[in-house]
Amino acid sequence: MDKKVRVRFAPSPTGGLHLGGMRTVLYNYLFAKKYKGDFIVRIEDTDQSRYVAGAEEYIFDCLKWCGLEPNESVQHGGSYGPYRQSERKELYRKYAEQLVNDGYAYYAFDTTEELDKMRNDFKTEKNPSPQYDHSIRTKMRNSLTLTDTKVKELLATNTRHVIRIKMPEQESISFTDMIRGEVNFDSSLVDDKVLLKADGMPTYHLAVVVDDYLMEITHAFRGEEWLPSAPVHILLWKYLFGIEKMPEWAHFPLILGPNGKLSKRDGAKYGFPVFAMNWTDPKTGDLTEGFKEKGFLPEAFINLLALLGWNDGTEQEIFTVDDLIDKFTMERVHSSGAHFDYEKAKWFNHEWIKKLEVSGLRFPVGELLTKNGFIVSDETYLDKVIELVKDRCTLLTDFIEQSSFFFATPEHPDLDTIKSKWNDQKQLFFRELIRAYKLLSLWNTVDLEKTFKEIAAVHQLKPGELMLPFRIMLVGGKFGPGVFEIADVLGKTETLKRIEKTLSLLS
Ligand code: GLU
Repeated sequence: MDKKVRVRFAPSPTGGLHLGGMRTVLYNYLFAKKYKGDFIVRIEDTDQSRYVAGAEEYIFDCLKWCGLEPNESVQHGGSYGPYRQSERKELYRKYAEQLVNDGYAYYAFDTTEELDKMRNDFKTEKNPSPQYDHSIRTKMRNSLTLTDTKVKELLATNTRHVIRIKMPEQESISFTDMIRGEVNFDSSLVDDKVLLKADGMPTYHLAVVVDDYLMEITHAFRGEEWLPSAPVHILLWKYLFGIEKMPEWAHFPLILGPNGKLSKRDGAKYGFPVFAMNWTDPKTGDLTEGFKEKGFLPEAFINLLALLGWNDGTEQEIFTVDDLIDKFTMERVHSSGAHFDYEKAKWFNHEWIKKLEVSGLRFPVGELLTKNGFIVSDETYLDKVIELVKDRCTLLTDFIEQSSFFFATPEHPDLDTIKSKWNDQKQLFFRELIRAYKLLSLWNTVDLEKTFKEIAAVHQLKPGELMLPFRIMLVGGKFGPGVFEIADVLGKTETLKRIEKTLSLLS
């Protein structure tokens, strides 16, 4: 690429950041890193009616959790700021007026009542919701139908008005999408979108084009749901800055759930997260669970996101961010919808838990255990526990069940299971085991097992029959890794204490 690559993620801060939004972040980030470019986050908050407190900060928290740090943003600064559109309000009007002067846009003075009347009057069976377009604009109150004097007068008296784009009739508008190839639109089907609102704020359509230009964006990537807006954006580029300056476009495929486009409702219905992190709607107080809190590792989350609409052409499924930067190409992003499969998502997490070194799990697991009331004071001990149980955990939250007994003596060991095959001989065995373990000078898996088996042989008992009660004494139930490994990590004092405790409960 001859020009420095500059890409942007341009969210409207209106709520939780869903899988599609996070994938847009990721693909932008990968592309920027691959071409040694800049990744910009621009907050598109021109629609004040959709403003949601806390949503902007939340977006940055999600990016931070995934380690996808922007080069420029509201939080990171940069020389193309401000990065929040509401703070750029003043600079858009001039472009809207330039469009009016050049004949590509016009002032529209229609009141809400007039617009309602239009929708009612022009409604037909074939066209139940008429749009303000080339067929209608000639019948409305705007600078195309009023005299110049009248328009001047209305403007001079600050009459409420908007500026609308004048969509050409029957023009074929086309552009080349990096994923979809050539895409064509019929301009007659597109309405005269508002560019500048009555409150002086630009709409998304004007702001996105002006800012992509001013911020020198070279590639504009976004979800497929924005494809219908592309003809308006292309014309704005043509009218304002010249088509040769326009960034290259790519529209990412929809993410599909069990019933078409993946929605928040699917998450609630089927019990899987759709947001990156927990999001609480400040108005309703409703909490929507996020992948983070559900127990996903950021590494796994990124990996599964990357494959929602892309693959490298081989069977490889596990990718680190560096692998992705190396292998990612826009040409390999599919144009058809990408199916989200929660079971597969969990599989990625399991693979990543197995793959990561203990040091990579120490922090999230420690944090989780502490949050759940366990006292985690010794890092070496925590590391040993993680090493021992990690392969059994699919979600990080599984660490709670799989390792809680390392941090608290089981309150209610499953005595029923022990009792069903208990006898005096076994009782004697465990008494003897305590005595022998006390004398052990080396406390390790090998010696623990050896001693256990020797004593079993003396008592003419099968070690297999003794292992289950031993496990229940240490763990509380019938699960967990190898019982001697558990005893090894628990240490002498705690192991003996737990055997004693269960024996006393049994007698
Ligand atoms: N502000 C749009 C959104 O909320 C961004 C669309 C674009 O990237 O052009 O997703």
